[in-house]
Amino acid sequence: MTEQTRQPGLKVDRVTVRYGATAAVDNVSLTVGPGEVVALLGPSGGGKSTLLRAVAGLEPLASGTVSWDGQDLAAVPVHKRAFGLMFQDGQLFPHLSVGANVAYGLKMAGLGRSERTSRANQWLTTVGLAGFANRDVATLSGGQAQRVALARALAPEPRLLLLDEPLSALDASLRQELADAVRATLAAATTPALWVTHDPAEAAAADRALRLADGRLT
Ligand code: ADP
Ligand code: MG
Repeated sequence: MTEQTRQPGLKVDRVTVRYGATAAVDNVSLTVGPGEVVALLGPSGGGKSTLLRAVAGLEPLASGTVSWDGQDLAAVPVHKRAFGLMFQDGQLFPHLSVGANVAYGLKMAGLGRSERTSRANQWLTTVGLAGFANRDVATLSGGQAQRVALARALAPEPRLLLLDEPLSALDASLRQELADAVRATLAAATTPALWVTHDPAEAAAADRALRLADGRLT
């Protein structure tokens, strides 16, 4: 094994993603090491979401590789990558309770009911929503809904969390508070993350920041 392939955690190596003739992501290389939180900044249309989707396995690569602990993920489908996803609109399941939303991925993982319930309650406590399990999703504020979305994304213990402007829909004061909460939660879970944002408060919560514009790191 070469030094290059032994890279622990995420390695994006010279990745290009095309939509027709346009390279939305153009020859991008980056790493996210164990426990590291890396912010991805840059103007709208710069390719941030496309890069995140490529890492998740939701966009085919025109060239380059995405690997984890040195293993090329080209043949590994989205659901087998063990990466968590969180978006601007948490897209909670409206017909499920808060607790059932958080437990959703655990059911997919085959855990029994009582284990799912206790783990969901633990995650709700971690994100500051102890006692919310039986609440109806429709009764949550925007900030509470994003806390639930974070708990849901982390409950299956993903090896990497991919966040796409997770707090952009919230007002500025709440964004600062939530950015700190997300950072603290990632640290508690020792989950590394690639965090797309154009918000300085969110970027400040990261260990380091990269900037993507016109598909290239600048
Ligand atoms: P960002 O997240 O930084 O705002 P995106 O990754 O969404 O940027 O978009 C990067 C570029 O790719 C933009 O020019 C956008 O119009 C284009 N693009 C994104 N998704 C698609 C798609 N599904 N089909 C065609 N073009 C797309
Ligand atoms: Mg985007």
